[in-house]
Amino acid sequence: MLKKIRKIPNFDNAGVLSLKDLKAIPGFPSETDFENDLVAVIECDEDIPCNPCEDVCPHSAIKVGLPITNLPHLDAKKCIGCLKCVAICPGLCIFVINKNFDDKNSLIFIPYEYSPLPNKGQLVRALNRKGEYVCKGIVYKVIKSSKKNSSSIVGIIVPKKFYNEVRHFNF
Ligand code: SF4
Ligand code: SF4
Repeated sequence: MLKKIRKIPNFDNAGVLSLKDLKAIPGFPSETDFENDLVAVIECDEDIPCNPCEDVCPHSAIKVGLPITNLPHLDAKKCIGCLKCVAICPGLCIFVINKNFDDKNSLIFIPYEYSPLPNKGQLVRALNRKGEYVCKGIVYKVIKSSKKNSSSIVGIIVPKKFYNEVRHFNF
């Protein structure tokens, strides 16, 4: 039987998916899900044989299933924002976001594999998916990787209007 061919998403010339296409993949939370405290945001759109995110989630909030090339599906209602999937993803494509961290700001947890790590309270340059400057961010938390096969994680605070734009930083 022929495998159904998935529609090729629209990449811009920086190889970055549009927000419209990201919202259509099964790991991306709905607008309602973003209103509920911390939630994982799985920006994984490659049909690759990979599933550590599914294995590591203690709340069965991520399903890849069979075949292993399925895209990960997020059940946002089960996610408690524990960050385990962010640390384990080899593609560095999972984030955890608290859109309503306070009245004006969102908190974005980002996998980070550069050295040195920033310090808590440090001002950083928040970047978008293309690596372009978006706004200033403040480091809220730094979780240093304790295992060889996991990433460090940095939580940064940015203005709420950028919660779906900021996905990296430098300093
Ligand atoms: S943040 Fe934790 S609970 Fe949420 S999907 Fe990832 S591993 Fe599961
Ligand atoms: S671990 Fe990362 S790259 Fe692998 S399936 Fe999950 S989200 Fe995709």
